[in-house]
Amino acid sequence: MKLSLYIALVFILSACSENQSTTYSDGPYVLKHSDTWEALWVCNGQNKRFEFPPPDTRKRVEKCNLSAELSNEIANRPQLTYDNVSRIAAISDIHGQYHLLEGLLRAHGVIDTEGNWRYGTGHLVITGDVFDRGPTVTESLWMLYQLDKQARDAGGFVHLLLGNHEVMVLNGDLRYLHEKYKQTERVLHQSIPNLFSKTTVLGQWLQSRNVLVKINNILFLHGGLHVSLAQQGKTLADINQAFTQRLVAKDKSSRTGFGQFVHNSEGPVWYRGYFREPRASTDDIDTLLTHFAVTHIVVGHTTQEHVMGFYDNKVIAIDSGIKRGLTGELLLVEPDGLYVGKLDGEKAMLSSTN
Ligand code: ZN
Repeated sequence: MKLSLYIALVFILSACSENQSTTYSDGPYVLKHSDTWEALWVCNGQNKRFEFPPPDTRKRVEKCNLSAELSNEIANRPQLTYDNVSRIAAISDIHGQYHLLEGLLRAHGVIDTEGNWRYGTGHLVITGDVFDRGPTVTESLWMLYQLDKQARDAGGFVHLLLGNHEVMVLNGDLRYLHEKYKQTERVLHQSIPNLFSKTTVLGQWLQSRNVLVKINNILFLHGGLHVSLAQQGKTLADINQAFTQRLVAKDKSSRTGFGQFVHNSEGPVWYRGYFREPRASTDDIDTLLTHFAVTHIVVGHTTQEHVMGFYDNKVIAIDSGIKRGLTGELLLVEPDGLYVGKLDGEKAMLSSTN
């Protein structure tokens, strides 16, 4: 590329991003007060709000083309194990790339062209990290929130599992926040952790999610389980409880003992030992599979070029680099095998690297 053309392109791109930061829209964020609910938006850079009585059943709120279908139900903590599930779609590390989330789910029949659930009694698993990096986190969360309800109505389920970026944002560690959401904080005069506190619709939902789920013979979670958890005889419930009870900590010192372990670098949302040194041995993986009575562990967090199997497909890595905003893949668990689903709707058998 000629240097002059390159300079012109850089200039145009930087002008576009400046433009976005001053005129962008975001929301809604829905705050539950004692007698009223309040929806907040940033519309073309301006603060917009709408107050209404708590809805009896469901209510749609919309401004500047940003809508949310609200429900008055209190989100319950889902179970940790499910059996006899006919099919599973699993996706990870969306990182604010709504168009790729939507595109992949649509391409593989999880949602229809309107964004509604069409996966019947199938289960959709998101193994964490919807937050941070990209500019369409709010859109992604509302879509998953709505699918959660639609799926249950159809006999299916959406499992949004917590990743390290959910934990970071909920605890006010905003280092990876897209610039857009720093503007949202300024325009709405609210911190992002406040907008996801337990007195908000999305915050209440997020803070009642789990860190892992076992469906049929497959365990799903964000980073991975260290072999020591099996050696100590910990159950899935032990790990999930220790993790979720200390999800939002006043300060790090309030996490002690096992509650500290599950939130540190060898805990379920940070661990990378299936892919990087010091690497888990084949025996370690077998110990984990036997102890937790599963045949596969599916994780995100450590980015790969593709959804792919490790340790003879006993470990399946599904962070396919969606965070780059260009393309991505999902894992499909079907009665006749394991497949990688691509953005154009193509399906390929899952392959194992080693
Ligand atoms: Zn992660």
